[in-house]
Amino acid sequence: MFGDGIGPEIMDASLRVLDAAGADVEWEHIEVGEKVYLAGNTSGIAEEAWASIKKNKVLFKAPITTPQGGGYKSLNVTIRKTLGLYANVRPAISYNPFIPSRYPGMNVLTIRENEEDLYAGIEHQQTPEVTQCLKIITRPGCEKICQYAFEYAKAYGRKRITCMIKDNIMKLTDGLFVKVFYETAKNYPDIVAEDWIIDIGMAKLVDSPEEFDMVLMPNLYGDVATDILGLMTGSVGIAPGANVGDDIAMYEAIHGSAPRHAGKNKANPSGLLLSGVMMMVQMGQPEVAEKVHNAWLKTIEDGIVTYDLARKLKAEG
Ligand code: NAD
Repeated sequence: MFGDGIGPEIMDASLRVLDAAGADVEWEHIEVGEKVYLAGNTSGIAEEAWASIKKNKVLFKAPITTPQGGGYKSLNVTIRKTLGLYANVRPAISYNPFIPSRYPGMNVLTIRENEEDLYAGIEHQQTPEVTQCLKIITRPGCEKICQYAFEYAKAYGRKRITCMIKDNIMKLTDGLFVKVFYETAKNYPDIVAEDWIIDIGMAKLVDSPEEFDMVLMPNLYGDVATDILGLMTGSVGIAPGANVGDDIAMYEAIHGSAPRHAGKNKANPSGLLLSGVMMMVQMGQPEVAEKVHNAWLKTIEDGIVTYDLARKLKAEG
């Protein structure tokens, strides 16, 4: 699907590159987002689009605009929850000096729990002046995400997982998350497991990301942390992501539809394209993934960049 704002431009560019690299994919296009919302469907997605996603099991998604107010539900949260996409995988890698970053040695992969926590969407108006949002953390949810994180580390040769929580305050919810983390770690003796309280943990992550390998976080902390990490690599425009469930996965850049830049053909397609690279690996086409990734690296090394990176390169002199 082509999405809103800069979505159509970056999706068109990404599909052209994937096709040229020989991706063995038949693209089936679905309409979601602003047009569907404004046509009166408050969930932003039509029934036939659900049928297409459930049949194909892989969704390559451009960013969409969620209209402000008016009872519109975030389609991203709806898709993740409806399809059971419980793991959000977001790598943040520095390509310094080709993409200037103050953190030349960083290569941090975040696994964010994607369905629970404050994103369960359970909010109440208790009295005219008191509102409440429920934080849901379940043992099955923790077991799934912790197991996913350790299996990922094993498969991709990552050596250390740092769990970030606030269990000194939220003893039951975050306490359960970190308890299950260490229970799971016992089955993976070759992988170092450690935890930090999220506040000092994030401070350390921003100060010296090269000391981290993989981080595992509940939903809200993970959402905040991955935007910060994305920007630390040089631009939110280059950060990819995968949302993974038991048998369906969705690939998308971490940024939004950047409406101010829409229609100018200047937005950075890298985040979406690199999400496509992750998708090719998962679809069993590693040679296509490698070809696209290498071509992307060569393009960046040759200094062929979009405005966000050109600005950085200019500032670096
Ligand atoms: P945003 O990520 O769309 O844009 C923030 C800023 O980041 C932009 O103004 C731009 O300077 C920069 N930027 C983002 N992507 C870029 C790219 N590819 N190339 C160059 N620069 C880029 O965040 P926002 O402005 O807060 O949100 C805009 C809309 O996107 C909102 O409607 C929001 O709900 C939606 N959104 C969608 C998703 C999604 O579909 N996954 C995610 C986040 C936000």
